[in-house]
Amino acid sequence: MKIYNTMSRKKEEFVPIRDNKVGIYVCGPTVYDYIHIGNARPMIVFDTLRRYLLYKGYDVNYVSNFTDVDDKIIKRAIEEGVTSSEISERYIKEVKKDMHDLNVMEATTHPKATEEIPDMIEMIKVLIEKGHAYEVNGTVYFRTRSFPGYGKLSKKNIDDLEAGHRDEKHQLKVSGEDEKEDFLDFVLWKPKKEGEPSWPSPWGEGRPGWHLECSVMSKKYIGDIIDIHAGGEDLIFPHHENEIAQSEAANDVEFARYWMHNGFLKIDGEKMSKSLGNFFTIRDIGKKYPLQVIRFFILSAHYRSPLNFSDTLVESAKVSLERILNAVSRLEDTKEVAQERELTEEEKALEGQLAEYVTKFEQAMEDDLNTADAISTIFELVKFTNSNITAESAKSLVEKALDTIRQLCDVLGIITKVEKEILDSDIEALIEERQAARKAKNFARADEIRDTLAAQGIILEDTREGVKWKRA
Ligand code: AMP
Ligand code: ZN
Repeated sequence: MKIYNTMSRKKEEFVPIRDNKVGIYVCGPTVYDYIHIGNARPMIVFDTLRRYLLYKGYDVNYVSNFTDVDDKIIKRAIEEGVTSSEISERYIKEVKKDMHDLNVMEATTHPKATEEIPDMIEMIKVLIEKGHAYEVNGTVYFRTRSFPGYGKLSKKNIDDLEAGHRDEKHQLKVSGEDEKEDFLDFVLWKPKKEGEPSWPSPWGEGRPGWHLECSVMSKKYIGDIIDIHAGGEDLIFPHHENEIAQSEAANDVEFARYWMHNGFLKIDGEKMSKSLGNFFTIRDIGKKYPLQVIRFFILSAHYRSPLNFSDTLVESAKVSLERILNAVSRLEDTKEVAQERELTEEEKALEGQLAEYVTKFEQAMEDDLNTADAISTIFELVKFTNSNITAESAKSLVEKALDTIRQLCDVLGIITKVEKEILDSDIEALIEERQAARKAKNFARADEIRDTLAAQGIILEDTREGVKWKRA
């Protein structure tokens, strides 16, 4: 598979470091509010990368953090008059619900920054010992100029950065920065302010800097070297550049082999963001569309391209997705009435064509996760089955076509199993059968019917007036 590596600005063949195992680290959200569709883009895109690697037979260790100590969380806690951990715990729960509804798989590990403080302190100690960090008045800074590769990911030149800052500083005096040796130095540990969450450390009570969290959590749950490090393109500088500096200075090995960054989700040509106020939360969108439509919409563009969000575009994604789901539903019905016989020669050729669609789909995914082309291939396959598979077809061919569409949708995390809602008349017929089974002392069958109904959300209640039921 070829992956576009932000480090080399080229597509490179993906080769994992440890045989069949792939370690992926995706920077996760800061949990102080509901997530918006822009935040959902990296979640969906890199979940799809994970699913494709699993499909190819890799063993994937997928780690994505929750930043649960941060200025925004503290601000929100003060506004509501509750503790920071109440805010972060609340929104971790809400983010997890949104992820589930977007069919994003749970990470192998979802570390929380506040639970990894001792390891963060350890890394800071190592950096100080090696001369890469220093403490002033309870704040520990990373000595940026001590790391020779600084700027290699974002292609920024350290002297240009310094010059840019001098111009800026000429106009506005940045407070509290004078204690730093150099303006490029960034915070690893900051001292406690009144009312803020804090932890003891050799430099006094305080809390870690944001960049440090990811360096420490990826080391702990993946190792010193990560195969793929991913996030939105706004994280390239300074977040990922600083992660590289910290990790490579501390561990003396290359931090990540491949850097993947998704493009922005935009609205009226501007990045969707909390600060601009031009955002839609996943929770609100979910009231209007099944969230599977949002997943499909996001995947219908290449992950590195900017993607504009509008009602019209989501509406059109909805219609497209329905075309696929309708084809699946038609094939399911066709399967019930199709012919129990061997494949004809002509059908064997059709079966061969099904395999060609799979190859084409894989080629698209192998080309830097081109989900847009992969989806086009699914449409071609849908068209092919609509015109070639009928009630006259051999059952095994219908099943093969159905499995093929299902399998490809599954790689994209698109759910094709449509649970048909059980009709009232079917429920009542089953209840009657259960009563008959009980009368005949066939309790096994009676229990089986109760379980079948329960699995579909139908709850039975035995009352004196007979059996009552309701939908859960
Ligand atoms: P944050 O909580 O702001 O750090 O964002 C969490 C993730 O969402 C990061 O990977 C960001 O790069 C990503 N992100 C935020 N806004 C957008 C957007 N409008 N489009 C795409 N990705 C975004
Ligand atoms: Zn990060």
